Amino acid sequence: MRLIFLGPPGAGKGTQAQFVAQQHQLPHISTGEILRAAVTEQTELGQQAQGYMDRGELVPDSLILDLVQERLQQSDTASGWILDGFPRNVAQAEFLGTLLDKLNQPASAVINFDVPDDTIVERMLNRGRQDDNETTIRRRLEVYRSATAPLIEFYQARNSLISVDGSQSINLVTEQLLAALNALA
Ligand code: AMP
Repeated sequence: MRLIFLGPPGAGKGTQAQFVAQQHQLPHISTGEILRAAVTEQTELGQQAQGYMDRGELVPDSLILDLVQERLQQSDTASGWILDGFPRNVAQAEFLGTLLDKLNQPASAVINFDVPDDTIVERMLNRGRQDDNETTIRRRLEVYRSATAPLIEFYQARNSLISVDGSQSINLVTEQLLAALNALA
């Protein structure tokens, strides 16, 4: 199964991706986690990405496209993967589409986690990550709306887009998600 998880920051994508990855034995590929690890290790990528992340901006595509391309060609991806946090804009989605065509690995589904703004801000403030202060959260929401939300229509037109109500409790979201994935199989 090859799954793309879409949704605003704080929608619970990461939590759900971790769970489904475990259940279905799939690698969970989170570009945010890869970038945070690079920042912690102070690699060149980390040094280049940190400022953007701290401001709530997307890091430039040039830092992320090769990284994703390499990751999707590692041997553990043969049985599938969950992409969490990528793509984040139309250029990334187009790049991914071309790459998956080339690898002959079409996405099985795109899952969109739907959550109202109030819930997002509340959840993110409770999460306490370094980039989870109120100014950055507001900026990340703006970036989501302008750059990432257009992917909902992008995928509606091209793939099977499944919407999940991410405002429910974690367990209910998982239940809804697993039911949707079973229906796919
Ligand atoms: P996340 O953990 O997915 O919320 O990502 C944390 C931060 O990493 C984001 O606010 C961006 O600065 C950066 N980031 C993660 N994924 C991407 C991506 N696909 N494109 C650009 N920036 C990204």
